[in-house]
Formats: sequence, C-alpha cells, structure tokens
Amino acid sequence: MGLSVKNVVEWINKFSVKIEQNKQFLSDLDTAIGDGDHGFNMSRGMNAVSQKLDLEPKTITDAFKQIAMTLISTVGGASGPLYGTAFLEMAKKSATSDDIGELLDAALAGIKKRGGAKPGDKTMVDVWSVLVPEVKAHNLTQEKIDSAVAATKDLVAKKGRASYLGERSKGHVDPGSQSSGYLFEALLETEGI
Ligand code: ADP
Ligand code: MG
Ligand code: MG
Repeated sequence: MGLSVKNVVEWINKFSVKIEQNKQFLSDLDTAIGDGDHGFNMSRGMNAVSQKLDLEPKTITDAFKQIAMTLISTVGGASGPLYGTAFLEMAKKSATSDDIGELLDAALAGIKKRGGAKPGDKTMVDVWSVLVPEVKAHNLTQEKIDSAVAATKDLVAKKGRASYLGERSKGHVDPGSQSSGYLFEALLETEGI
C-alpha cells in the first residue's frame, strides 16, 4: 500500500518532536564546525510545519507542498532551502507515485542538485545517499541510521560553512546529517510506512 496523508503527517510530526528534543544538541554540533544555529533553525521551521499540518492537508501532494513552503520561508541558512527542496521534489513526484522510496529518491536528487554536494563532502547528502537505498530495499534500521550519521565525523567538509575549516572539520558529526538522521528515525517509527 502506498503512502497516505495520515502517514505523512505522523512521520513529519515525529520528526518535529525529535528536532525539538534535540535542538540544543544540533546547535552544539553546529557550534563546533559552523555558526551554532542548526537546531534553532530547524526547530523554528518544524514548529511552523506542525502548525500547518494541524490544518489537515487533503492529499500527500498538498502536505509535501505545505511542508516545503513552510521550511523554505522559516528555516533559513543552508539547510532551509535544502530541506525545502527535498519536500518540494517529493510533492512533485507524488503526482505520479505514492512509493516512499521513489519519493525519497526524488528528494535526494533535488538536494544534490540544489547544493552541489556529493557523497563524502560531509553534508546531509552523506546520510540521505546511504539511507534512501535502505528504505527502497525495506531494510532501514536504527543501526544503519546511527552508523550513517556517525560516519560523517571523520570526513573533511567540502561544502557549506564547515568547509571553511578544512581539515579542522574532522572529528565532528555534521549537524545536517544528524537532523537528517532524525527524519529517517521518524520514518522508521511511523506505523504503516
Ligand atoms: P548554515 O550553515 O547556513 O548556518 P544550517 O546550520 O542550518 O545552515 O545547516 C548546516 C547544514 O546544512 C550542514 O550541516 C550540512 O549538512 C548542510 N549543508 C550545507 N551546505 C550544503 C550543501 N551544499 N549541500 C548539502 N547540504 C549542505
Ligand atoms: Mg549553521
Ligand atoms: Mg546560519
């Protein structure tokens, strides 16, 4: 069975809760290799998204569009347009597919196109590119999520603010990869996806 509006709302509300619970941690990760705002940016955006979802979108396309627009207008920084693009691509793809793997594939392609990052550049692309195939294969697990996030620690950043640090970006988990890990965790915990 394909993705329903109820699935999307549950998934994204769980993501929102995780962001709220971990906003200080996400900002602390960003303090080490960026400007310390990632958790606060995401928290502001996801609170606005949850309010939008309370208005009960009628289709998955409407839900993804609302999520995308809200993230683009409220998160800011590098991550706002990137998460916004991800959900906008899911909205577009949902016109012809209700398969979560196909939707996430479209989202990842959008993130890569928008930000120009490749796997290994120490960005959210690292987590997405490892975990999207696991979703498609119905093999996503908490262990795989944890290890994909942890694997960003030893990379040298090639994109985003952390790249200004060069070699000194090594030894710290990428904040956008950690928040993306929560998105996949929320998916794993959503009944019926
Ligand atoms: P800013 O760096 O503008 O303060 P945030 O702190 O909200 O924005 O988000 C930083 C995160 O965005 C990084 O940890 C990284 O995962 C992600 N990111 C930054 N630049 C790119 C890019 N070009 N492609 C993909 N992800 C990126
Ligand atoms: Mg930042
Ligand atoms: Mg910033």
